[in-house]
Amino acid sequence: MQYETIVAIGQDSHRFVADKGAIENPGNLILGGVLIPGADPLIANSDGDVILHALTNAVSGFTGVNILGSVADRLCLNQGVTDSREYLMLALSYLGDARIVHVSFSVECKSPRLSDHIDEIKQSIANLLSIPMSSVGITATSGEGLSAFGRGEGIMVICAISVRRPVDC
Ligand SMILES: [Zn+2]
Repeated sequence: MQYETIVAIGQDSHRFVADKGAIENPGNLILGGVLIPGADPLIANSDGDVILHALTNAVSGFTGVNILGSVADRLCLNQGVTDSREYLMLALSYLGDARIVHVSFSVECKSPRLSDHIDEIKQSIANLLSIPMSSVGITATSGEGLSAFGRGEGIMVICAISVRRPVDC
């Protein structure tokens, strides 16, 4: 059996809740399926897990089946599914014979400081994808405050996945 490796990318961003007092239930910040205690939440219909959304988009970038947007909105608004892991699992269900072998994330934000949470987030993503933690890379930067993300208005994530699939000979 011969294999080929395909690379696909996904991106997502969300804005922080500007005035938590103005919102009845501002929620929590969840990144990569991990609750970040004490951090400001992001505005979203779902749990706003910007890392899993970028990953879900990267999977869609490979499968061609878009989940975030109308499909996830229907799950969220009609069925009350706000757990972004569910959106990811739906995207993964279209992989067929292909297997994700590596994922790499680039996160741009001013806060929270991700260094305290990176290992936990890596492990969470590794578990969700059934790959070793060593196959998950996450870097974070504030980009010297040149963008809205670096100035603390939200979080932006780019995700690249490497996917191995059998080649029909
Ligand atoms: Zn999102």
